[in-house]
Amino acid sequence: MTRITLVQGDITRQSVDAIVNAANSSLLGGGGVDGAIHRRGGPAVLADCRKLRASRFGKGLPTGQAVATTAGDLDARWVIHTVGPVYSTSEDRSGLLASCYRESLKRADELGARTVAFPAVSTGIYGWPMDDGARIAVTTVREADTAVEEVRFVLFDERAHEAFARQLP
Ligand code: ADP
Repeated sequence: MTRITLVQGDITRQSVDAIVNAANSSLLGGGGVDGAIHRRGGPAVLADCRKLRASRFGKGLPTGQAVATTAGDLDARWVIHTVGPVYSTSEDRSGLLASCYRESLKRADELGARTVAFPAVSTGIYGWPMDDGARIAVTTVREADTAVEEVRFVLFDERAHEAFARQLP
């Protein structure tokens, strides 16, 4: 059974096996969680991302997929980069958002990661409503078939923390 825990804070300050990055498809950095991870992870993370762009992901990482790199100077062994969907009112993209959590846990299992920290993917710059983002995140992790022992959702502010807390018993 995977334990789900909630923490309010900065995901780059977590000590876990793997930290999930709410990346963009370029894999070359951006704002929000992505910017913070590259700042604190240092050049080794970016160097790995550039290698991925030069090899398997020449056109970038597709939405809903996940790929691992070194964690550089972060207190983790790996960063798992996943690209959330941009929220849309005209199209239901929740399958893609669920896929981010599922694919990230698959990469974690392949690596043997036992503790994984997730941000609330897509709920920042990509505009996903927090309550719905929290619902998809918690439901997908609960239903996942994974050997990960702890999934830690790291929520930046109180509003996000409360939204995730409402999804747990
Ligand atoms: P996206 O582009 O997928 O929306 P963002 O990084 O903009 O990704 O935001 C995702 C969520 O992470 C938002 O709820 C945002 O408030 C939060 N966030 C931003 N920085 C951090 C951080 N350092 N640690 C944890 N959560 C963060």
